[in-house]
Amino acid sequence: MSDLSAPANSGTVSSAYNQALEVIASVEPRIAEATKQELADQRASLKLIASENYASPATLMTMGTWFSDKYAEGTVGHRFYAGCQNVDTVEQIAAEHAKELFGAEYAYVQPHSGIDANLTAYWAILAHRVEGPWLEKMAVKNMNELSEADWEKLRNELGNQRLLGMSLDAGGHLTHGFRPNISGKMFHQNQYGTDPETGLLDYDAVRAKAKEFKPLVIVAGYSAYPRRVNFAKMREIADEVGATLMVDMAHFAGLVAGKVFQGEENPVPYAHVVTSTSHKSLRGPRGGFILATEEYAPSVDRGCPMVLGGPLSHVMAAKAVAFAEAKQESFQTYAQNVADNAQSLADGFLKRGANLVTGGTDNHIVLLDVSGFGITGRQAESALLDSGVVTNRNSIPADPNGAWYTSGIRLGTPALTTRGFGADEFDRVAELIVDVLSQTTPGTTKAGGPSKASYIIADGVADNTKAAAAELVAKFPLYPGLDLA
Ligand SMILES: *Cc1c(COP(=O)(O)O)cnc(C)c1O
Repeated sequence: MSDLSAPANSGTVSSAYNQALEVIASVEPRIAEATKQELADQRASLKLIASENYASPATLMTMGTWFSDKYAEGTVGHRFYAGCQNVDTVEQIAAEHAKELFGAEYAYVQPHSGIDANLTAYWAILAHRVEGPWLEKMAVKNMNELSEADWEKLRNELGNQRLLGMSLDAGGHLTHGFRPNISGKMFHQNQYGTDPETGLLDYDAVRAKAKEFKPLVIVAGYSAYPRRVNFAKMREIADEVGATLMVDMAHFAGLVAGKVFQGEENPVPYAHVVTSTSHKSLRGPRGGFILATEEYAPSVDRGCPMVLGGPLSHVMAAKAVAFAEAKQESFQTYAQNVADNAQSLADGFLKRGANLVTGGTDNHIVLLDVSGFGITGRQAESALLDSGVVTNRNSIPADPNGAWYTSGIRLGTPALTTRGFGADEFDRVAELIVDVLSQTTPGTTKAGGPSKASYIIADGVADNTKAAAAELVAKFPLYPGLDLA
C-alpha cells in the first residue's frame, strides 16, 4: 500500500492541478508542458537518489500561493516590513510543529535550503561563542559601536576559528569544511574520516583528532554514510574539548521524526545546534531549518539579517503542513519502512556477491562499491540511467578514482518507499542493478587503455532492465488518482 495512495480527495487534487496548469498555459504553455512532463518522468522513474522524495499534494499546493509575494524580514512579531500578521501565523505554526516533532527547545524555519541552514548555524555559533564575549569584553552593545581597529581585531578572531567535520569521501557534506565550500574558507578546517578497515566511524580517532585540533565547532552528520551515529559519544567528545556540537541531519531527519533513530541515535537531545533540510527523508518542501537549545536560540534567531534575506513565507507554510504530516503515526510506519527497505536492498546486493561500504546499512542509504564489477562509479551511474534506474555516483573511503569518477553508487530508499515499495521490490531492485553492472564493461580511451567514463552494456540488457523497471513502478503509482488532462 502506497503511503500517498488513494487520498479521499484525489478528484479535488486532479481538478486543482488541471485548472492551475490551464492558468499557467495561458501565459507560457511550454512551462505547463514541462510541468506535466516532469510528473510523467517522475512517475516512470525508478528513483533511488538518496536525497530525494515525493512531497504530498497538500505540501506541494501550499507552496503555490500569494505568501510568495510577501516580504517578512525579521522574526515573528519583529518584522522590518508592515503587514506580516499572516506570515507570523505560519512561521509560528511551523516552528511549533518542528519543536514538538523533534522535542527541541527552539526551532528556526526560515533557511531556504540545507546550505543556508548550515551557514546560518555557523554564524550563530560564531556570534554566540566569539562575537558575544568580544562585545562584552569591549563593553559595547553592538558592532556599530566598535572602532575600526577593534572591528579589524574581531574579524581576525572570527576568521581564526577551527571546525572539525566528517570528510567528504567518508560521507560528510561539502558544507562541513570542504575546501572549495565557504565553510572550508571561513574556518580553519580539519576532518575526521572512517576506519580504513571497517568503513565505520571510529569515535576514539575522532576524539584524538579533536584533542589535537581543539575545534570550536564539531560537525556530525553525513550525506553518504550508511550507518547510524552515536550522538551521545559525539557530544562527550565536544565537551571534552569545549567545542559546540552541531549535527547536520539533512539526510536522516525523517528517521528522527519517525522515531527510528531514538536514544543516543537521536541528535536533538545531544547537539547544541541541529540543522536540516525539509525535503529529503522528511518528505516536506524544498527548504532548511534549525533546531537549537535555548542558549543558542537568540543567535540563531538573527539568521536574518546575518545570513538570510526575506524568508520564503510560502515555503514556511508548506514546512508547517509537512511537519504536521510527519507528526502522524503513519509517518512513523513510513520511516520504519524506509529503514527496513534499506536492509532488504543491502541484503539483495550481498547475497548476489556485491560489495557494500561498511558491509551493509542501518539507515536509509546503501553505498555500493562498484570496483568489483571492474567499472567506475561514473560508468555505473550512466549504465544504470540507460537502463531506467536513477542513482548517483559517490566516492567511497580512500577512493582510487577520486571524487569525479568515483568507485561508488549511492542508493536510498525514501522515495520508492513513499510510492509503496516493500522488501520484495527492493530485493528486485538489487537484482536489476547487479544484472546491469555485471554486464557493463569499460570502453577504451584513444590511447587504447580502459576508459573511466565510456562504457559498453551488453546487448539487450538496458532495454530489458528498462522494461522490468517500468513494470515495477507501474505497480506503485505516484500520486494515485491524480490525472492530468
Ligand atoms: C543535502 C545536504 C545539505 C544541503 O541541502 P540543500 O538544501 O541542497 O542546500 C546539507 N547537508 C547535508 C548533510 C546534506 O545531505
